Amino acid sequence: MSMQRRVFLAVICAFGVSQAAISTQAAEVKGASKYAIVVHGGAGNSPAELSRKDRKAKEASMAAATRAGQKILASGGTALDAVETVIRNLEDDPLFNSGKGSVFNAAGINELDSSIMDGQTMACGAVAGVRTVRHPISAARHVMTDTRHVLLAGGGADRFAADVGLEIVEPKYFWTQGSWDELQGILQKEKSEAAERKKHMGTVGCAALDTHGNMAAGTSTGGLVNKKNGRVGDSPIIGAGTYANNATCAVSCTGVGEDFIRYAIAYDISAQMAYKGISVAEAVRNKIHHPKKIIYGGIIAVDYEGNVSVEFNTPGMSRAIADSSGRFEVKLGK
Ligand code: ASP
Repeated sequence: MSMQRRVFLAVICAFGVSQAAISTQAAEVKGASKYAIVVHGGAGNSPAELSRKDRKAKEASMAAATRAGQKILASGGTALDAVETVIRNLEDDPLFNSGKGSVFNAAGINELDSSIMDGQTMACGAVAGVRTVRHPISAARHVMTDTRHVLLAGGGADRFAADVGLEIVEPKYFWTQGSWDELQGILQKEKSEAAERKKHMGTVGCAALDTHGNMAAGTSTGGLVNKKNGRVGDSPIIGAGTYANNATCAVSCTGVGEDFIRYAIAYDISAQMAYKGISVAEAVRNKIHHPKKIIYGGIIAVDYEGNVSVEFNTPGMSRAIADSSGRFEVKLGK
């Protein structure tokens, strides 16, 4: 329950209004049938660098994944289910840097990171460096629901995913020509950090508010191309790449993970709202357009009223928004 709602209910109770009146008005405050969903397909290069065919395919994939999440929310399903479903869809599309299509690390291996968080209960789960799980977001959700832990890494996380019955694939399932060529290009001629920063950051993420007033967020990635073997980014770190709290907002980030970990960006968005009382849009802008350029990437967020914020300081970021008012948008560039 958000701060606003708690205060509202406290005031109503203090004045001794009847129970029936409380529940009717609480439902109104809750905005019972309102939902909103925001999705990103990674910050990074300008869409002008993609072929027309890939641009269209990316837009179509973003739209289809968002519609799958929207359908769940519109029929009264949970934000958690919507987030997991959207991300599973995008994990199957080789145009994104998550699941199939993940980038390669410097050792020529795909190591995948993912996390999910429930803003109602503050429960969360994550996996880091998995190599055989087709849908890392579902493994993250199982860590959240089936264990007393938050983050499982490496071989143990892969084994856990198998134990809970998730689909396991050979590591070569994640191999794609595009990601392989990208690594080779970097290894052969573009050995600068700047070149790597500019590259493929098609991480995927989703934040949603459901009709029950609950929020959730999730993020899934192959990480940064040519990252060191064993490197873990922000995407599986709760508070860095993903955060959700019903009292404030749900957030998913994309970009140079080290920046987002250092500044605890996802949590910071929620904390700014809670402590400064500012809007989600302002909180997100404060970080993306920080005078000291503390992060390179993008942020998507939704608040407890369904206000959506999308900001990035990279040349492009694939994103989509849908809500109960009929809004439906997909964009790749500025
Ligand atoms: N944030 C991810 C990472 O650093 C990469 C991305 O968002 O593209 O692993």
